[in-house]
Amino acid sequence: MPGEFELIARYFARPVTRARLGVGDDCALFGSTPGHEWAITTDMLIAGRHFFPSDGPGTIGHKAMAVNLSDLAAMGATPRYALLAIALPSDDEKFLRGFAGGFFGLAQKYGVEVIGGDTTRGGLLTLSVTALGEVPEGQALRRDGARVGDDVWVSGTLGDAALALAHHQGGLQLTTEEAVACFPRLYVPTPRIELGIALRGIATACIDVSDGFAADLGHVLECSGVGAQVTFEALPLSAAAAAHVEEPAARDCVLAGGDDYELVFTAPPDRRLQIDKIAESLGLRLSRVGSIVAGSDLAVLRAGEPMILARTGFDHFGSASAGPGGG
Ligand code: ADP
Ligand code: MG
Repeated sequence: MPGEFELIARYFARPVTRARLGVGDDCALFGSTPGHEWAITTDMLIAGRHFFPSDGPGTIGHKAMAVNLSDLAAMGATPRYALLAIALPSDDEKFLRGFAGGFFGLAQKYGVEVIGGDTTRGGLLTLSVTALGEVPEGQALRRDGARVGDDVWVSGTLGDAALALAHHQGGLQLTTEEAVACFPRLYVPTPRIELGIALRGIATACIDVSDGFAADLGHVLECSGVGAQVTFEALPLSAAAAAHVEEPAARDCVLAGGDDYELVFTAPPDRRLQIDKIAESLGLRLSRVGSIVAGSDLAVLRAGEPMILARTGFDHFGSASAGPGGG
């Protein structure tokens, strides 16, 4: 049976080129790009809460990296490094091999070097990833910069990950074709790294949708001290979400479903042309869904009438927090 150090060497120690010192010493060492500041984030994933223990190890690895890179994307940071703390119920090498494949696969795609971590035995499979990215000084996309009159934008489509989860849990029924389209959004989300970087100097505020569109936009509103008016019909929906939009459960997925990892951002109207060009160059749908108004409320209008939001998003300590979900 391999020991802790053997497991680290086998699955987590990879050569680094940007960092001065990676896995293998007491600490890692790395320098900084002049004129930049560091954006650092940690996200934890726990079996049964953020993923099903039966999920494929590769998808768990992908998601552990993706949710952290998504936070860097939401700040407009360029991903550089990651650290991985992992508590394992057993030294399941089949799991570790698959997990490392998904984890390092996504890391490599964005040039992220894994420079350290911690490996321990624990009762419940628990993963904690810390990601570090660089952003030119003063250009980070924070939550507190939205101003009255700004447009509200959303990338990609909303609700697909939640539709997959709802289908899995029996809350609604997707066709096979719809399921095939939605499940990857839940299991192998795409962090919108290139978009975050492109929005530097353009977006006034930004957040990634991990808990739900309404809840996450709500965080921006609260931090910025403003309100927003959003048009439900303007929200970007996949074919699957559009097909189910008359079902309240599906509308709930769109407005309050977590795990989309799209970016919601605000920008002044004189940036519309630039943002349309970014959408074109990235091949990514960017939709203008509403505007920032005075006050503190989020109003979502459907057919001109304010919608009553049963819930706004995922809250680990709230009443609706059963089963995997939330960022
Ligand atoms: P220490 O006892 O000094 O904290 P460890 O024995 O915990 O060191 O870890 C040895 C080296 O392996 C360190 O460089 C640490 O950062 C790295 N490491 C441990 N676990 C992981 C992991 N899961 N992923 C990446 N690096 C890891
Ligand atoms: Mg240690």
